[in-house]
Amino acid sequence: MTLKTPQEYLDSIKRPVNLYMFGERLEEFWNHPIIKPSINTVMKIYELAQIDEYKDLMTTTSHLTGEIINRFTHIHQSTEDLIKKVKMQRLLGQHTACCFQRCVGFDAANSLYSVTYEMDKKYNTDYHTRFKKYWIEVQRQDLMVDGAMTDTKGDRSKRPKEQSDPDAYLHVVDTSDEGIVVRGAKVHQTGFLNSHRAIIMPTLALRPGEEEYAISFGVNTNEKGITLIYGRQSCDTRKVEPDELDIGNFKFGGQEIFVVFDNVFVPRENIFMNGEVEFSGELVNRFAGFHRQSYGGCKVGVGDVLIGATALISEYNGTEHASHVRDKIVEMTHLNETLYSCGIACSSLGFQRESGNYEMDMLLANVCKQNVTRFPYEIGRLAEDIAGGMICTMPSEADLKSKEVGALIEKYLTTCEGMCAEDRYKVLRFIENLTMGVASVSYRTESMHGAGSPQAQRIMISRQSNLEEKKNLVKKILDIDTSK
Ligand code: SF4
Ligand code: FE
Repeated sequence: MTLKTPQEYLDSIKRPVNLYMFGERLEEFWNHPIIKPSINTVMKIYELAQIDEYKDLMTTTSHLTGEIINRFTHIHQSTEDLIKKVKMQRLLGQHTACCFQRCVGFDAANSLYSVTYEMDKKYNTDYHTRFKKYWIEVQRQDLMVDGAMTDTKGDRSKRPKEQSDPDAYLHVVDTSDEGIVVRGAKVHQTGFLNSHRAIIMPTLALRPGEEEYAISFGVNTNEKGITLIYGRQSCDTRKVEPDELDIGNFKFGGQEIFVVFDNVFVPRENIFMNGEVEFSGELVNRFAGFHRQSYGGCKVGVGDVLIGATALISEYNGTEHASHVRDKIVEMTHLNETLYSCGIACSSLGFQRESGNYEMDMLLANVCKQNVTRFPYEIGRLAEDIAGGMICTMPSEADLKSKEVGALIEKYLTTCEGMCAEDRYKVLRFIENLTMGVASVSYRTESMHGAGSPQAQRIMISRQSNLEEKKNLVKKILDIDTSK
């Protein structure tokens, strides 16, 4: 079966994992109220892939097997594929209003596909064949794969080998004919627990002498030696309260995991880079580029929902005709569509690598992500402006439903004729969730730091900006000798 149903996905992740939350080991995590919304979100990906209306975006044909696969396991074969990726991510953001977690492994696979090809060409290794074999299995079983890059990094002023604790960067601690043993940690791991497998990558461009850190491999997320510690998100314990409306988005949510690798064995066939330091920077840049492209889709979809919630609350508040409110919603839309334009533009200008797969335009992908570090904050600010202070002063759902004070809250929350106080309550909580609650992690902080913090994009923009060519443009117009 190539396309898993949502239920098949759910059944497939019910496996033993070494998971901790609030200092305790968690069994049957799939029933935990803090984790369940993140699983619902991934199930939505599998669900939409089954619906005819969405099949063009959600599924495609594998160039490796000729079989129909979920697009999240595809290796892009054209610029049209790159564009459809962004459109699919917008669609999923619209359906879930949060991070749907499956893009990281997708982006890692597309980066490794070309980097392994180039390593083999230079060193006569067989990483590309290994990787294709590994990925065919992912496509055939419709597996969710995480992509793990960020090390804990210790003292940022020091290189990996200069750290007082060598595990600050994940590295090889033992090698044999059968494989390697690795130790270290990967943090901010979106959807790691909900993924069947993970692709591990180095976190930075490495130098000769740092070979033990230039490592990439595939691993099962419940492999022996892996410990998962569940990341907290703002207001997450509202999910364990008996009432659900206070959560805001009570159906869907993201997931971030702190992952520790304590002497994890990786068999030879799952290793895709082992010591090729000069390719580590390329892998990091390509992965970052693909994930910066991704943000031109996913954040836009979530932005659509936030704009919708803002328009709805202005209607409930009776302010929808006020000219400044209308103008602010236009501004939100303008910013959101600018992000989308960047996502589509870097995809449209994509190019083919020697390995045959397509990659987005690096400069425009970095411009896309740099805008994402800013615009969602402004969109969120305008949403809060229009929604009013009630988003952070409202009593709880228990009070709204209480025999004693419920009628009072209802009376004073009611605004316009025909408006239901509970609907207003829901939308206000939803905006709170997106701007300062659990979903603000994926809409705000992740917009800032996910796929690299703003400075990382500025470095890439500076590298790609080709200032010499721009200076020559001026010289040519002004008849200045371009050789000087
Ligand atoms: Fe996908 Fe966006 Fe979440 Fe990254 S932040 S995994 S691109 S939804
Ligand atoms: Fe992310």
